[in-house]
Amino acid sequence: MKHYPIHETFHSWQGEGAHLGRSSFFIRLYGCPIHCPWCDSAGTWHPDYIPTNIDKLDTDELVKRAVASKAEIVIITGGEPAIHDLHELVSGLRDAGLPSHLETSGAFQISGDLDWITLSPKWQALPLQENIERASEFKIIVEDRDSIDKWIQQIGFENLRGRPTWLQPEWSQSSNPEVLHSITEAVKKRGAPLRAGFQAHKFYKADLEDPGHRKPVPLGGREELGE
Ligand code: SF4
Repeated sequence: MKHYPIHETFHSWQGEGAHLGRSSFFIRLYGCPIHCPWCDSAGTWHPDYIPTNIDKLDTDELVKRAVASKAEIVIITGGEPAIHDLHELVSGLRDAGLPSHLETSGAFQISGDLDWITLSPKWQALPLQENIERASEFKIIVEDRDSIDKWIQQIGFENLRGRPTWLQPEWSQSSNPEVLHSITEAVKKRGAPLRAGFQAHKFYKADLEDPGHRKPVPLGGREELGE
C-alpha cells in the first residue's frame, strides 16, 4: 500500500471557488518544488519551516480519517499534490463514497480519476496544456494590477472555455485597492467566465479551529509578509 508524506489533515469547509462553503476534509501533502514568494502553505516546503514530524500515512489511514470526519468532499492539496502518485488515494476515497477534489498549479502530470480539479497557474512553473484542458475551474492569483491581463494572455481567454475562472487577490495584497479594483474592472469588462474570488476561510479562521491544522507560517516563509 502506498504511503504519502502528510503535512496535515483537518476538517473544515472549502473557502474558495465553486464549492465554497462545503464541508471538506483536507489532505495537505508535503512538498512543492515551485517556491512561490507569497505561498500561503510555505510550511510544506520552506527550509526554515520544515516540521519536525512529517507523517507518512497510508491510503487506508487517510480514507479512514476522511470518512470519520463526515465531510462532503475531500480536498487533496499541498504543497503541490501532483508531484505524488494519487491513483491509490483517489480510488480509495471513491470506494468509500467520497469525491476527491485537487488543488494544483498544473505544472505536473495529474494522476487519479479526480472529481474536480482547481488549477491555479504559477509563473515559476507554467501549467501543462493537458492540465489546462482537464481543469474544472481556474484560480488566478492577482499579485498586482497587471496580473489578470498577463495570465489571460498566457493561457488564452478562449482556452478558459466557460469554466469558472476566479480572480483572487494574493493574500498579502487582499487590502490593496489597486489589486481589488483590477479584479472588479476585469469582471465588468470581460464577463464570464471571470469571477471575483476571495479566500473566505481566512476571514473566519475556519481551518485553525481543527486540531489537525498546523500553526500557519509567514507567506512564502517571509516574515515581512505576515501570515
Ligand atoms: Fe507550491 Fe502552491 Fe505554494 Fe506556489 S503557492 S509554492 S505552487 S504550494
